[in-house]
Amino acid sequence: TTLSTNTPTAELQAIDAAHHMHPFTHASQLNAKGARIITRAEGVWLNDSDGNRILDGMAGLWCVNVGYGREELVDAAARQMRELPFYNTFFQTSHVPAIALAQRLAELAPGDLNHVFYAGSGSEANDTNLRLVRTYWAEKGQPQKQWVISRWNAYHGSTVGAGSLGGMKGMHAQGGMPIPGIAYIDQPYWWGEGGDKTPEEFGLERARQLEAKILELGPENVAAFIAEPVQGAGGVIIPPETYWPEIQRIVDQYGILLIADEVISGFGRTGHWFGSQAMGIKPHIMTVAKGLSSGYQPIGASILCDEVAEVVGNCEFNHGYTYSGHPVACAVALENLRILEDEGIVDRVRDETGPYLKERFESLTDHPLVGEARIIGMMGSIALTPDKASRAPFAAEAGTAGYITRERCFNNNLIMRHVGDRMIISPPLVIAKSEIDTLIERAWKSLDEAH
Ligand code: PLP
Repeated sequence: TTLSTNTPTAELQAIDAAHHMHPFTHASQLNAKGARIITRAEGVWLNDSDGNRILDGMAGLWCVNVGYGREELVDAAARQMRELPFYNTFFQTSHVPAIALAQRLAELAPGDLNHVFYAGSGSEANDTNLRLVRTYWAEKGQPQKQWVISRWNAYHGSTVGAGSLGGMKGMHAQGGMPIPGIAYIDQPYWWGEGGDKTPEEFGLERARQLEAKILELGPENVAAFIAEPVQGAGGVIIPPETYWPEIQRIVDQYGILLIADEVISGFGRTGHWFGSQAMGIKPHIMTVAKGLSSGYQPIGASILCDEVAEVVGNCEFNHGYTYSGHPVACAVALENLRILEDEGIVDRVRDETGPYLKERFESLTDHPLVGEARIIGMMGSIALTPDKASRAPFAAEAGTAGYITRERCFNNNLIMRHVGDRMIISPPLVIAKSEIDTLIERAWKSLDEAH
């Protein structure tokens, strides 16, 4: 039989469990209840196969920035598929969507980040970056400058290269990661790890770990530092204000390339076009994906500054993906950027809906389970704790507080994610104030039920 959204939910779930391997999922999670089958979506609302309307507080996976149901993006894809569904950009060919999107990204990206190397995803773009920075230094006559420094609990993707760049210990434990040549420093997570220090002291201390690591490895051996302006998958960790200026000083002083992974923080998520602008940093390379196409097509890219592009461009960089600069993905991304710009979505997040969400979101700290609420633009998280004064985490057995709350949210038709005892939101940037109210009401109700 042909499956459709009219197929009974239980049947879809059984076939799903039998044949579909889900990322980051233990089979028991699916066997117990079956996956929730999402059937359609509009604005910030998802529909499931049981007829529920669910508020998507995560914009899919931090990516549906312009919201669901955008006919303009459908039309852009259909037009492009008719005209030229595929052609590659290897070996001296190009096409209009890849050219136009590169031009637009060069305009939008700060400073002299003027050159775009396309990928199919954020992971692929970070794999590109890893090889690119090493190739850059080799071409500059410093082939020993190969170490890349990252941070524990960073997320840079799931391929072997990107997963190694990431600092997720659970991922490193499986399948041969990390690869050699990558070093890690601690994250600037004040609430969880700052102890008695002020956030300012702690921010400086964690930034200076980069300096110590560079000196330990030898500055002549270090190619780059990679970081998310605001860690996303690690729990929406907004660093203390002292952190990024000190990191910038260190990378400048030691001549290390700075890679800003903007896969989540790009395209308005922080109320700026890029998280680097929100944090006041000047990366040599930015990784983008997700919000670049609002998730309507899979696409990622590395955006390079003039100097790096010139050096790597003048050797044959033996790297590329069949779908580097996929015409349909580029056409959709270009249209998505037009929507973000023409509808003033980034400015609205910065000036209007972002501040409103911040006020409402921070009110969650009145709840007995919530120790802190931190948010920038439209990415935020709350820390759940049994003891606000000591900022204690839940004990291991009860450490499922985040999980319980997420389950309650799910039942209350709100998608929030949990990372340990942090609960995350990252809604579509077009969320209206009344929908923000609904989000906060459902979050509060779920916390009450978990309490
Ligand atoms: N970098 C960051 C900061 C991310 O959050 C993600 C995905 O969540 C990635 C890279 C990987 O992107 P993708 O899943 O498109 O490969």
